[in-house]
Amino acid sequence: MNPCKSPLSSMRRWLLLLGSATALVAPSIASAQGELTVYCTVQEEWCRPMVAAFEKTTGIKVSMTRKSSGEFYAQIKAEAANPRGDIWWGGTGDPHMQAAEEGLTEAYKSPRLAELQDWAVRQAEQAKFRTVGIYAGALGYSYNADELKKRKLPEPKCWSDLTLPAFKDEIQVANPNSSGTSYTMLATLVQIMGEDKAFAFMKAMHRNVNQYTKSGAAPARAAATGESLVGITFQHDAVVQALGGAPVKIVSPCEGTGYEIGSMSIIKGAKNLENAKKWYDWALTPEAQAIGANAKVAYQVPSNKSAAVPAAAPKLNEIKLIPYDFAKYGSSAERKRLLAKWDAEVGNQP
Ligand code: PLP
Repeated sequence: MNPCKSPLSSMRRWLLLLGSATALVAPSIASAQGELTVYCTVQEEWCRPMVAAFEKTTGIKVSMTRKSSGEFYAQIKAEAANPRGDIWWGGTGDPHMQAAEEGLTEAYKSPRLAELQDWAVRQAEQAKFRTVGIYAGALGYSYNADELKKRKLPEPKCWSDLTLPAFKDEIQVANPNSSGTSYTMLATLVQIMGEDKAFAFMKAMHRNVNQYTKSGAAPARAAATGESLVGITFQHDAVVQALGGAPVKIVSPCEGTGYEIGSMSIIKGAKNLENAKKWYDWALTPEAQAIGANAKVAYQVPSNKSAAVPAAAPKLNEIKLIPYDFAKYGSSAERKRLLAKWDAEVGNQP
């Protein structure tokens, strides 16, 4: 008897066929909601739970990469003819503003705009809705209190203390070309001191800088381990280290300090535009804005008015904040000019 003709083997063949058909169909069921490429500029530890929560909520498959603010600005510009990213989430507002002005990002008015703090909406309005504020945080620095004591060094309290000869090779800060944090420092100093004095200050501080890192938050980790005595970062980045048990003290410089409006933009020509809008709307919800603090990795002030401000977030109303001019320092001409000047007068010095 031909085994293929027996009823049992027909059944088996049918089941086998069904099995392979299911295997072929299964991936498209899993990705029925489509895909999304996220360019994430906060620290990796925060990017990952955001992606996991979004995938779980929507069924959309996310591919995520993490880079610093200036790096993603440059990448999005380089990819403009054939965009690979869909949404750029996080990072300081200035490069998002620059990308908006240069037409690299898509205008979008989320139905959630009305739920946001004024500073987040103002950011969107200034960029003709090509970006939006998702969190805010103040700049400052942290130092390793154990090392400071061991070396019998004076307690730094101001920006001006960072040029003291006692801090030679003891200060770490990022490169403002790659890092939004460091560009915020550059623009902050210009706004506090005036351009000439700010560049003279940065040149003097250069003698004390042990390393210009790529990422803005790295100096907070260096201060926490004692690899560097002082790390210039956003204060919320140093809070992560302090809560992790590092002997760091956080300084709000006595002259006053700048702040960031962490931002989010849809990339112009996004291949997954509808899913990018889904991420955008979701990322503005109080639930999504609680993910970083719940994971104990982010202590910024969230932009949704109903989102809880983490108890450990530096209190912006108690910090001497300057009225940072986001329109001016996020403008393409000004950011390019200041970065070129920093390269020529500060970064390229021996
Ligand atoms: N991580 C956190 C927590 C931030 O607040 C910011 C600024 O928006 C960044 C990363 C951006 O980092 P970078 O200075 O590397 O561009």
